[in-house]
Amino acid sequence: MSFTSFSLFPELQRSIRDCGYHKPTPVQSETIPVALEGRDLVVSAETGSGKTAAFLIPLIDRLHRKRAKGPSALVIAPTRELAAQCGQEFTRLARHSGLRAAVIVGGESMRRQIDDLRAGAQVLIVCPGRLIDLMEQGKVSLQQVEVVVIDEADRLLDMGFLPQLRRVMRTVPKERHTMMFSATMGSGPEAIARDFLHRPERIMIGRKAAPPPSISQTIYPVQWSDKEAMLLEILGKPEVQSAIVFTRTRVRAEHIGRMLKRHGVRTAVIHGDRSQAERNTALKTFKQGTCRVMVATDVAARGLDIPNVSHVVNYDLPDDAESYIHRIGRTARMGREGEAISLVTPQERASLGQIERALGEELKREMVEGFESPEVRAPKPVKLFSSGGARSRGRSRSRWV
Ligand code: AMP
Repeated sequence: MSFTSFSLFPELQRSIRDCGYHKPTPVQSETIPVALEGRDLVVSAETGSGKTAAFLIPLIDRLHRKRAKGPSALVIAPTRELAAQCGQEFTRLARHSGLRAAVIVGGESMRRQIDDLRAGAQVLIVCPGRLIDLMEQGKVSLQQVEVVVIDEADRLLDMGFLPQLRRVMRTVPKERHTMMFSATMGSGPEAIARDFLHRPERIMIGRKAAPPPSISQTIYPVQWSDKEAMLLEILGKPEVQSAIVFTRTRVRAEHIGRMLKRHGVRTAVIHGDRSQAERNTALKTFKQGTCRVMVATDVAARGLDIPNVSHVVNYDLPDDAESYIHRIGRTARMGREGEAISLVTPQERASLGQIERALGEELKREMVEGFESPEVRAPKPVKLFSSGGARSRGRSRSRWV
């Protein structure tokens, strides 16, 4: 299938080509035709699957054909980074359409956002908090909105945005086209779909909550006191071209960031206590390759699209399998290969058990020469669904030795 099989206006086809998109990803082939018909949609797809273009392409086509004036589409995203990313994708795809977007998020100049609105933005890409601020000040009206996208619904719920989401959805017209995207489909996203969507078509891409098979996953058992030294050793390997290192807390992210810089590793740090300007700079230096390593808390784990991340390192394991899968999904984007490495102390055995149970397999253990490798065997996992483990199981041990 190619994009030309969708009846999109010619300038949009041109922008898609300019983006270098030659054929639709699975989520795009399934979503775009249904969305072009104006039917409501609930889509669950793996992160990095091309879901942003899957909703932006039909949205741009519709607003362009209608010669929309004023705010006509609303994309609701849980984090500023995700909204910014969506804004960038919109700029590329809408280049020849005459449409404009305003990215309305906290932590950045409200004045500029108001100017973008006054300049006639037809598409509002928002985080709920700042949108409500502007609504309360009477700076934005949603009366003409005809398309609503709820992006990463599960994440919006995790972050406690349900009341704000309800408030926004009460304000937009009842007659509208609504699309909801969610990485996972638990009872929370299902309730949103029930409350805000009208007889939605359901599209499910890939396996539910399973990591892409192109990610090789390895556990490095380590004593707590050796973690920093082992991290340095791993990051020093030539095959680690760019890595995101995840820590459990913001304080630990700062600490590890400082430690790496002291050892001459060019490092960016991103977490919720940093200002928006600092977060933007961190992302930029990492994306451009000025920094080879980015230390992050889970705030960066979901939705961020950073191409060419060769390694994800879990300096601390997350407590649950879902966060683990989201974190490691930052590598192996768009079907590329990637490595996920977890430094696991005996104290983290319970979290490892949870993760292995959800994956349905025991992850392979390796050791780094010169480091003690304590026993971190979790209770034997029960197979719940097939995952990409078969590929990694055959690999040799001790590749870092
Ligand atoms: P997303 O899942 O929306 O975060 O998209 C992940 C990445 O895939 C982004 O860098 C997009 O630019 C890229 N992408 C989206 N659609 C396509 C496509 N059809 N072909 C190639 N790359 C794509």
